[in-house]
Amino acid sequence: MPMSVDFKKRLLPALADIAAHFGTPFHIYDEAGIFETGLGLKHAFSEIAGFMEYFAVKALPNPSIMDIMQKMGFGFDCSSIPELVLSRQLGATDEKIIFTSNNTTDEDFKVALSDGGCILNLDDISLIPKLPEIPELICFRYNPGPRRTGNDIIGNPIEAKYGVSHDQILDAYRQMIALGSSRFGLHTMLASNECNYTYIVETARMLLQLTEWLSDELDIRFEFINIGGGLGIPYRPEDTPLDLAGMSSEIIAIYDAYRSKHGYAPKLFMESGRYMTGPHGVLVTKAINHKDIYRKYIGVDACMSALMRPGIYGAYHHIDVLGKDPASFPIEKVDVIGSLCENIDKFAVQRELPIIEPNDILIIHDTGAHGHAMGFNYNAKLRPKELLLRQNGSVELIRREETMADYFATLNFEKKILNRQ
Ligand SMILES: *Cc1c(COP(=O)(O)O)cnc(C)c1O
Repeated sequence: MPMSVDFKKRLLPALADIAAHFGTPFHIYDEAGIFETGLGLKHAFSEIAGFMEYFAVKALPNPSIMDIMQKMGFGFDCSSIPELVLSRQLGATDEKIIFTSNNTTDEDFKVALSDGGCILNLDDISLIPKLPEIPELICFRYNPGPRRTGNDIIGNPIEAKYGVSHDQILDAYRQMIALGSSRFGLHTMLASNECNYTYIVETARMLLQLTEWLSDELDIRFEFINIGGGLGIPYRPEDTPLDLAGMSSEIIAIYDAYRSKHGYAPKLFMESGRYMTGPHGVLVTKAINHKDIYRKYIGVDACMSALMRPGIYGAYHHIDVLGKDPASFPIEKVDVIGSLCENIDKFAVQRELPIIEPNDILIIHDTGAHGHAMGFNYNAKLRPKELLLRQNGSVELIRREETMADYFATLNFEKKILNRQ
């Protein structure tokens, strides 16, 4: 199921009060659910010494959520300077941060290597001469090209802009050894929202095999492999969730074989975003209009600025109407729409929902990852607030809604003119 039964039990009885107190629209996240998923992941891989999850900050870049990740001992996967700064503000430094940038700038490198540093994950061989200093520990992002087929969302590796090609990967490490690096990791990221764990097991197998070859050629050991993120979540009620226990037991078996062959094994790193927080957030929005033309439309007080996935990917997000059980309530087929002047601004298209009246509260599921974070300001639409449902039942504002002053902030500046007469 999209939103867990437990999250519903915790949230729904209080939701009318929360909506009245804070005002709609808002995303609300479930601390208990995030802990449950995170601790479950840790437990699943506890047999692999040094297992580490680096939460992909871009999925839900909020310090209150990142603090929960830190309480579980997790690090952060960053790909921009503000994400690095956010992670460091929480006290993460050095090997608690992986910086996986692409099309990297000089400024990116400077910030990544200063202020406590991080694990640098290089996206290309041409970036080596641009390093302002040579880190002791270096990782490369590998792109297997025709050696793997991509999953449906992330696409064919040949067409992906990321990573070092197979033909370049040996030389990449050789160059870093010549420059003085002495500790090594290997990374790839080939899947997105993949619920078939076999794909992820094959990625772990591929990386371990690659370390064997590279280690032989270069006489080095790898400290870790990082299999990336991309663990999927079930967005539709009929989707099968990822079988975490099945996945971890197959990866552990591959690790056991590696360890008995070589007497050691690299640590296993992962950088999940969606899997960690996706199901533990919902967008709560109020019905404000009911329009009946060629189709029936339910207008709500949130729009694409709060959640882009349905509009840009055609993604399905399950919707409940507070207090109206679809099993026992009359149903009608509607499009659920925001107010943006773009016809893709729809949270649901031709969806059968309990008949909705103005002021009904709609709960749009699975917005805990790549939800608020992806929102934009097109059409001067402002992004909503974020709330956190704590384990003790209290509800905390963890990001306020944007205001007009935020929107106008980039227009308030000192005039600068280049006179060219
Ligand atoms: C986006 C991203 C992730 C997280 O992906 P999820 O699908 O949210 O797990 C991890 N690593 C890298 C390099 C990414 O770009």
